[in-house]
Amino acid sequence: MSHPLGDSLEVYSDQGANWVRCTRCSHVIARLEEHWRKRCERRTFPPTKAGPLMTILVGHYVLQKLYCPGCGALLESDMVEQS
Ligand SMILES: [Zn+2]
Repeated sequence: MSHPLGDSLEVYSDQGANWVRCTRCSHVIARLEEHWRKRCERRTFPPTKAGPLMTILVGHYVLQKLYCPGCGALLESDMVEQS
């Protein structure tokens, strides 16, 4: 049994646990209870990479992209507060 979690991820059940995996390469990223985002390849870009209108966010937010560790598929793209 599985169900989609966003565009490139799905949750499936196996061995009594729920897992998050990549739909492209079936790489198992983490258990559902874990923070799967921490297991991804992560890159951050200036907010203006998302468009020139994002200039107002420079210095406050960064564009964070998360990639599958197995195949490099883009899993999530989001503005996050700059730490
Ligand atoms: Zn993958």
